[in-house]
Amino acid sequence: MHAQPPASHYINGQYIEDTKGEKIAVMYPANGEVIAEIHAATPDIIEQALVSAQAAQKVWAEYSATERGRVLRCAADIMRQCNDLLSEIETLDTGKPIQETLVADATSGADALEYFGGLAASITGEYIPLGGNFAYTIRQPLGVCVGIGAWNYPTQIACWKGAPALACGNSMIFKPSETTPLSALKVAEILTEAGAPDGLYNVIQGMGEVGHALVSDPRVAKVSLTGSVPTGKKVYATAAQGMKHVTMELGGKSPLIIFDDADIENAVSGAILANFYSSGQVCSNGTRVFVHKNIREKFIARLTARLENIIIGDPLDPKTNFGPMASAKQRAIVLDYIRKGIDEGATLVCGGHAIENSGYFIQPTVFSDVTDDMTIAREEIFGPVLSVLEFSDEEEVIRRANATEFGLAAGVFTQDLTRAHRIAAKFAAGTCYINTYNIAPVEAPFGGSKASGIGRENSKAAVEHYTERKTVFVATSPVEAPF
Ligand code: NAD
Repeated sequence: MHAQPPASHYINGQYIEDTKGEKIAVMYPANGEVIAEIHAATPDIIEQALVSAQAAQKVWAEYSATERGRVLRCAADIMRQCNDLLSEIETLDTGKPIQETLVADATSGADALEYFGGLAASITGEYIPLGGNFAYTIRQPLGVCVGIGAWNYPTQIACWKGAPALACGNSMIFKPSETTPLSALKVAEILTEAGAPDGLYNVIQGMGEVGHALVSDPRVAKVSLTGSVPTGKKVYATAAQGMKHVTMELGGKSPLIIFDDADIENAVSGAILANFYSSGQVCSNGTRVFVHKNIREKFIARLTARLENIIIGDPLDPKTNFGPMASAKQRAIVLDYIRKGIDEGATLVCGGHAIENSGYFIQPTVFSDVTDDMTIAREEIFGPVLSVLEFSDEEEVIRRANATEFGLAAGVFTQDLTRAHRIAAKFAAGTCYINTYNIAPVEAPFGGSKASGIGRENSKAAVEHYTERKTVFVATSPVEAPF
């Protein structure tokens, strides 16, 4: 298997290498085979990316917004045409099943490019009458924006950050996760092919130090991070030194509440999507599944029966619907949490073990009798581990659901619509679901409350985070001075 890119970085419209940078081996998580070798960015590479992004932003800001939109929409079309190739790269990079990547990665990236391409020409200021005088606002780009990605949705993250940044007239330097460095390079290539000026969207590789070097550079105006809460705190603090704009898309420990009037089969589908899609490596996962005591047994029985339909195998096989963890490190972290669950007294209903092969597979795992104080109910696991917690009344469950430092997502399954809306209003989370889970279409804002982040991605809301308003006051009569 081979997925070697022409070079490690993409700067100023072309691939560029600097072998002095630390070597990073890219593994296919399904068998541990090295599929590519790249190098982390050296200070020279970082400098080249910053210089070219700064120059390109000035050129790009002079384009009409309609022209900018056209480039993004053209990039969306190219992404869709290349979906098969991009999905294969994503599967090799992340280990996610090809049946997922074909419909959820490059396609979601293309949606973002198309949506923000369409929106670009409508990003305008406003006219404010002031009784004869008036003011108007100009929505200005911020300048050079930095995007830093996690490893679970590398293509989507590269586009969710790049598309709104570029639509608003900014340039971007994107640093993918060191675990999944391949697909963002393709996004950069496609933008060049679509007509983006050289340097508008650069990709450089590396670990946290490269991200830190970008965030602390005074030429950078904004940083958008997708990652864990501890990294978010560090990046936010660094950005604060330069008073930079930030968007933080961080981790979660989201609740999913299932009432006894819910359609059980539908609720089980929701719980599966909320815990086992992408082998559980989804930030918004509803991993604390609060099930009403009246339906607990029935729910667990249907859930475990449905999990028997999981097809674990080579992610490149279209029949496979459950792949490995993205890395050996993540597998070790998840297995450690499973051990803690057992040690702290939760009941292991199914799964709980690594699958003995050369890849980083873990069985889909369900715990019941989980209590709020257990480690597996408090910390983000980021793997295929579902915890069932029992509840008996509405007031109690909403209090327990909100008793977490995180606030990314929350869901409720019930047939009682007044209760559903009442609970959605009370959830302390940025993204809530009623009788569904884990959808994130580009038209709607996505993001977290509390420790799960700041700012919103997608939708018109993202424009707020990639522009700033300049206010211009205009007098139509002479100035009235006191003396
Ligand atoms: P991570 O925090 O370890 O790394 C994220 C990125 O930050 C990587 O590219 C890493 O190299 C970089 N980084 C690390 N230290 C840095 C520093 N000091 N300065 C600048 N950059 C630095 O996260 P991960 O393990 O790659 O991803 C998993 C996490 O991401 C989970 O917590 C998950 O919930 C979260 N996530 C959130 C969302 C969301 O939209 N809210 C989406 C996907 C993943």
